[in-house]
Amino acid sequence: MARTLDPELRSALAERVRYYRELGIYDFYRREPGLSRLTEAQPPDAGVSAASLSAVSPSGSQSELREEMAARKSAVVPLVAEDNIFEIVAPKPEYGTVDPVAALKLIREDLGDCTRCKLHKQGRKQIVFGVGNPRAELMFVGEGPGADEDAQGEPFVGRAGQLLNNMIKAMGLRREDVYIANVVKCRPPGNRTPERDECETCSPFLMRQIAVIKPKVVVALGAVAAKNLLAINAPMSELRGRFYDFKPAGVRSSDSWPGARLAVTYHPAFLLRDPRQKGEAWKDLQMVMKYLGIEPPTKAAE
Ligand code: URA
Repeated sequence: MARTLDPELRSALAERVRYYRELGIYDFYRREPGLSRLTEAQPPDAGVSAASLSAVSPSGSQSELREEMAARKSAVVPLVAEDNIFEIVAPKPEYGTVDPVAALKLIREDLGDCTRCKLHKQGRKQIVFGVGNPRAELMFVGEGPGADEDAQGEPFVGRAGQLLNNMIKAMGLRREDVYIANVVKCRPPGNRTPERDECETCSPFLMRQIAVIKPKVVVALGAVAAKNLLAINAPMSELRGRFYDFKPAGVRSSDSWPGARLAVTYHPAFLLRDPRQKGEAWKDLQMVMKYLGIEPPTKAAE
């Protein structure tokens, strides 16, 4: 629940939280419900996670332009949303469940027949939760289901999915080795870009999936996934070509999991429109393979 605070105090606290984030400190706990003090460590059940404070500021750019969004801020430092800094992170049903299969099931149950955002009444047939290995070292995150995914209930099964499958295969992996999910789990009408409120409503479930799967690497497919995961707004040319340290925002994650490295590459749908960029995407995937110690398959092995 957001609290109304004196703007000066809010700003000072936001500054402090930013400072702690720079030091790598993400978790803060409230002394007791109703008190807005961040000074003393308390039991985690009333936790306020500064990582959950990262907010996304999607500009709502349309699909053809998504991959090369204009830079609004060139900084690649996550922004802290002052609006959310006192939001209480409630314990989640999967906390305490070690088995990722069971934990993902609990998240799916919590999602239910979701009506949390307007996408539920804009023609979605079903929720597209995610698919793949619950213990995957590598996770791909797209934007949102299209018509094929909406019909089949599985992410990336249409033309873009075929290309993603080829990309995965080129890496020497099988689709079932990785985990695939989207920022929003319901199809936006006409395949439009998911809107800010839709992403903000849905992405906590994605963050929980990531926290449960604990991948070594997350690959953000396209600018929408990148800016939602990283809470930064920059053009693809600036986002690609490097790893980011990533911990899912707003959720508790295992102490034994140091977080993932996150790489950004072009969305397969963009590559279908502009196949000349496939070489660039391959460079991104090679960076990931190198980190994961994966050798590309030889011709004979294919
Ligand atoms: N595009 C996406 O971003 N996700 C899908 O699941 C399919 C197409």
